[in-house]
Amino acid sequence: MDFHGIVISRNDYKERDMLVKILTDKFGIKTFFVRGARKKGFKLASAILPFSHGTYFGNVNDHGLSFINGTRELEQYQQIYSDIELNAYASYILGLVGAAFGNDEPLPGVWFDNIATAINLIDQRFDAAIVANIIEIQLLEQFGVKPFLESCVICGNSSGPFDFSETYGGLLCQQHWYLDLHRLHLDQRTIYYLRLFSVIDLKQLHSIKVKDVTKQHLRHTIDTLYNDQVGVYVKAKKFIDQMGSWDQILKK
Ligand SMILES: [Zn+2]
Repeated sequence: MDFHGIVISRNDYKERDMLVKILTDKFGIKTFFVRGARKKGFKLASAILPFSHGTYFGNVNDHGLSFINGTRELEQYQQIYSDIELNAYASYILGLVGAAFGNDEPLPGVWFDNIATAINLIDQRFDAAIVANIIEIQLLEQFGVKPFLESCVICGNSSGPFDFSETYGGLLCQQHWYLDLHRLHLDQRTIYYLRLFSVIDLKQLHSIKVKDVTKQHLRHTIDTLYNDQVGVYVKAKKFIDQMGSWDQILKK
């Protein structure tokens, strides 16, 4: 059977083989046993590089290991492949997806397309931090955290100013700020993007330009939500955080 796939990661297995994790459109995340993958001149070598994507065919099992027999229309993300920063963001998104969905279960709804679109946008040099923010916000629901961003959670007021309350799990309008002393004290621009990112369709994203200071606030806010409420930490995130601190050094 054939399926679309994006290679997430791979690990050496025994002396000559590899276990390759692929995000598939039909079966979710599957692990493939690739015999002889570490031999020189292996014929499917390019099919199992990180971020390779295209149509694969093989034997896909419900549980345990699956097998690749061949590919067609296989492509690499050239920019992601050669740019360490883009690579970090793409790895981070795929890592989050792995944490959100688990193995061997088809992804719900349009999630495969969403993720493929996100990786594609990063490869086209859309702002990778913003693309990652959109995926992070939209994945919150999969992690069982669905912040209410439509209006004030208390009174339904849909015109701001707003702030975000973790205690109430959503927006509070100014009249209700007094209810939560520990609200996040966000500026309205950050609120605006949080609300936009929760509903935006990545396929409709043609350009987006966010000020650096707002990007830092978004990063900080989303980190707070993930640390406090999701509790998932993806390895690639560490590198993204380091890049953030290097930027600070370079600016000084
Ligand atoms: Zn209110």
